[in-house]
Amino acid sequence: MTTLRRRIDTYLGQLLDDERFAFYQAVAEFGDAEIAPNLLRWERDHLLVPDETIAKMGEMGLFGLPIEAEHGGQGGTHLDLVLMGLALGYHSHSVAITPGAATSLGSKPLQLFGTSSQKAAHLPDLAAGRRMIVFGLSEPGRGSDATNPEVRAVKSANGWVITGEKCWSTNAKWASHVVVHALTDPTGRKGHRSTCFLVPMNARGVTYGEMGGKMVWRQSSTGSISFDRVEVGDDSIVGALHGGFKVMAETLNGGRLFVASLAVASLAFALDRVSAYVQERIQFDNKPIGRFQRVQDVVFELDLALEEGLTWLVHLLDLYSKGTLSREQAAKVKIACSRRASELLLDAMEICGGVACLDEFGLIRHHNDLFVTRVGEGSNRALMSQVARPLLPGIMSDLQ
Ligand SMILES: Cc1cc2nc3c(=O)[nH]c(=O)nc-3n(C[C@H](O)[C@H](O)[C@H](O)COP(=O)(O)OP(=O)(O)OC[C@H]3O[C@@H](n4cnc5c(N)ncnc54)[C@H](O)[C@@H]3O)c2cc1C
Repeated sequence: MTTLRRRIDTYLGQLLDDERFAFYQAVAEFGDAEIAPNLLRWERDHLLVPDETIAKMGEMGLFGLPIEAEHGGQGGTHLDLVLMGLALGYHSHSVAITPGAATSLGSKPLQLFGTSSQKAAHLPDLAAGRRMIVFGLSEPGRGSDATNPEVRAVKSANGWVITGEKCWSTNAKWASHVVVHALTDPTGRKGHRSTCFLVPMNARGVTYGEMGGKMVWRQSSTGSISFDRVEVGDDSIVGALHGGFKVMAETLNGGRLFVASLAVASLAFALDRVSAYVQERIQFDNKPIGRFQRVQDVVFELDLALEEGLTWLVHLLDLYSKGTLSREQAAKVKIACSRRASELLLDAMEICGGVACLDEFGLIRHHNDLFVTRVGEGSNRALMSQVARPLLPGIMSDLQ
């Protein structure tokens, strides 16, 4: 198959300074060398991201990009994380989400809300990719309705006793701990009923299994974790008592930018794949199908969405680094990029015809993986209300 020339490099070259662009290129080269040649085999053999690949990403510092240097990280910013999402997500969301979730969701609660001893105990290992932490928000009975966890933590003489189940836990296979969002004050105000606890995966009463039958993000570990009267101390609380939802919500702001980067990475891959294919594929009068205007329309739409997505993301990352990114802005970019990319992926597949069904062509994997960007880290449709509410203060303020 033709080697793809990357349109995304042109845009990133204009948007980034030389140092950041060099970093992006180094990660993209790693993706070309380590992911691209192996992905099909991993997929067909139903393998999760191999330990050697995780170790190599750890050596490159990809698990510690935004973690402070004093805690063993690269001391970078969220922009670095998003550049990694663009560079690795171009080939595989599954591989990109492994360090992506480990940092944007796993270590982030400790970075934002951890005590100095929690940070010292965990961040160096997390930054090196030696172990990971699961972001334990979703439950079998609680997805979008995240302010009301069914997992409960009850005060005991020595600390807390946690009972219940978390699911859709990305990176569970490699996790040493899970940040559990648990109900601690059932009669409290909405958003002030829960607390986050850092729970070791090997604590007595914790059991984990991989969720079977998943047809998306197939190399990513997705676990279900049960807690049967698990005892933890007061020092396992992350953030404030009954302030658990704030920990989860603030962490998700950055996570949504990362999810948007995966959607944009799919657009980048699709644009390159389609541009190459429609110039090669000959139909009618010995001419390439790229001569048809309706085929060109799809190339145009992919290119437009790619440039807009990248420009928007880089702007929002600047706001994130200044601490002025709003919840609504993070939600909007995730909603728009994921929706547009998944719709355009279908168009991209359609103009390539039957070949787009083949796993080796790559488009169908991106199409399937993009589904997760629409429902993960807040379902798009639930997030739309979150964005609309502040715009309708006269009628919605009582529901916030
Ligand atoms: C591969 C994968 C990995 C994941 N990783 C993690 C992880 O690491 N940690 C974690 O905690 N979670 C994780 N999740 C869970 C993810 O965040 C949830 O799937 C998401 O929050 C939606 O919850 P739900 O699937 O229970 O959908 P539900 O809440 O049951 O919603 C179903 C649908 O109902 C509609 N809906 C629901 N509420 C509203 C509303 N208020 N307004 C309008 N429409 C609404 C929407 O269309 C929504 O898609 C992961 C999910 C997947 C698929």
